[in-house]
Amino acid sequence: PPVIVWFRQDLRLADQAALAAAAAEGPVIPFYVLDDETPGKWRIGGAQRWWLYHSLQALDASLGRHRSRLILRSGKAAEVVAAVAKEVGATRVHAIRHYEPWWREAEDALGKAVDLCLHDGNQLAPPGAVRTGSGGIFKIFTPFWRALQEHMPPPAPAEVPSLSAPSRWPKSERLEEWALLPEKPDWAEAFDTEWTPGEAGAAERLEDFVAEVARYKARRDLPAEEGTSRLSPHLHFGEISPATVWHRLSRAKGAEFLRELAWRDFAQNELLILPELGEANAREAFDRFPWRSGKAAASDLRAWQQGRTGYPIVDAGMRQLWATGWMHNRVRMIAASFLIKHLLIDWRDGAAWFWDTLVDADWGNNSLNWQWVAGSGFDSNPFGRIMAPLSQSEKFDAGDYIRAWVPELGEVDDAAIHDPHGVGAAPEGYPEPLIGHKEARARALSAVAKIKSAR
Ligand code: FAD
Repeated sequence: PPVIVWFRQDLRLADQAALAAAAAEGPVIPFYVLDDETPGKWRIGGAQRWWLYHSLQALDASLGRHRSRLILRSGKAAEVVAAVAKEVGATRVHAIRHYEPWWREAEDALGKAVDLCLHDGNQLAPPGAVRTGSGGIFKIFTPFWRALQEHMPPPAPAEVPSLSAPSRWPKSERLEEWALLPEKPDWAEAFDTEWTPGEAGAAERLEDFVAEVARYKARRDLPAEEGTSRLSPHLHFGEISPATVWHRLSRAKGAEFLRELAWRDFAQNELLILPELGEANAREAFDRFPWRSGKAAASDLRAWQQGRTGYPIVDAGMRQLWATGWMHNRVRMIAASFLIKHLLIDWRDGAAWFWDTLVDADWGNNSLNWQWVAGSGFDSNPFGRIMAPLSQSEKFDAGDYIRAWVPELGEVDDAAIHDPHGVGAAPEGYPEPLIGHKEARARALSAVAKIKSAR
């Protein structure tokens, strides 16, 4: 009988443990379900739908080169996979294990209907494998990183297995029917020039980065430079395995880079402690935080989303996000901090916007990082440490970055670019700051003083 491989955020053929295991057992049916039901509110957002369309197209094309194809269905994944298994007479389904709460729910449900074999391979080390001396899951990154290195290197990446086709293919829906791409207006216009979704695009991105990785430490915080790998959406969709990245870059003097890559593993481990990491404060004191609400807060949130806060570095980041589906990490921190501490808007509102607009939106990474910035996370930057966006902009030399993303400021010189209002050089049409830094800082500190035991 044929064996089903249930693809999710693991859209690759190489170093794909579920595919390899299935191929060793019999004819393989590669299967993908567009599931907007199980995740509920956390179904994939707009930017990722664009990515998914192209990634599935690429996966189907590479399967075609192995005399195979991708079968598509939509609906509640556990039910749909069980139904197709029955239809083709398969009893066994292979999949890579996922840690989002809705995927765990789907895995539990599907496991009752079929023989579901779950594999590792989407992290450097299986979540839960790296433990503290007393057997717990690490809550702080630095000791986690130290312990993770004991498990490194990861197993050498496996080649694409040889696939045999079933005697009969089940019916497939058509990718075009899923309406994953934006219609009018086509906000994803710039995505095409920025990204090549799919396994080949991921491999190319990695190769391009090999020559750069030695300079990663020096350049990773400078938003005006292409100093980081931009592998995040490829890693999120599993178009390349982290083990592949590790092996390629550890040979190329990538120690600093590998440490950052490990944050991704760390986030998956945090999900073992708190699966609802994107919804629940890891520090409960934050449940009492006096977030602003009402009309004025809603209007500030909109200004932030649109990149019209009057803080050039924040606006540049938010516009880069909208145009390309990605934002530089340093600017993500500044923009998130601005929303949370300057505007006193609940981090979950910011995380939800990122969820819809990032091509790399990831339950573990997005939630962990928002909570890190807010101060509500297990490992986090204390709330009282308030980033100053204007001096951050200067420190990380963001002038060219701002001029590139905020056309109103395209002609502003280096002396004025970080704080054009402050030096009286703001061109007409560039918004006034929503709030002054000093005032915001005082307001934030008095807000956090209201929750006892939060630092
Ligand atoms: P590089 O610097 O080249 O890093 C390589 C890889 O390591 C990344 O692709 C990513 O997989 C991992 N990585 C690096 N930094 C982090 C980090 N701080 N946390 C977790 N993993 C990391 N990253 C996401 O992948 N998805 C998200 O939804 C996401 N949301 C974020 C929200 C906020 C508020 C902040 C501050 C950061 C967020 N990040 C998220 C982390 C980080 O900004 C991105 O992973 C990074 O900018 C991606 O660019 P890159 O691939 O060039 O990174």
